[in-house]
Amino acid sequence: MERCSAFVTDSSGWHRHQCRRPSKVERKGKRFCTQHDPKHIVAKNKERQEKWEAKWAARRASQAMGDAIQQARCDAVEKLIEIEHCCHPDGLLILPDSMLADSLRRIIGAATGGE
Ligand SMILES: [Zn+2]
Repeated sequence: MERCSAFVTDSSGWHRHQCRRPSKVERKGKRFCTQHDPKHIVAKNKERQEKWEAKWAARRASQAMGDAIQQARCDAVEKLIEIEHCCHPDGLLILPDSMLADSLRRIIGAATGGE
């Protein structure tokens, strides 16, 4: 049986030799084993790329989610600062209760690094 015509690098990475597996398919006049069948390699690469893209899409999505949470926190703290400064319409209603005002200031302090 004819051997696969692909060349492979051995485990040392220094030597190239012809694949020792028997060929199973013919592509453009060359014989290949199942593993070195160009169609198989293309499919493998596509599969690998799709995995990568899925992984990156997931990473981007989680990044966007993190950004959204971060932004929401910034917005919330900004609102609290606004309330604390009593320029928010609800500020005057909430702030007379000093316990609430204190915890509000603690939250703002923690979020802004104690400015
Ligand atoms: Zn081969």
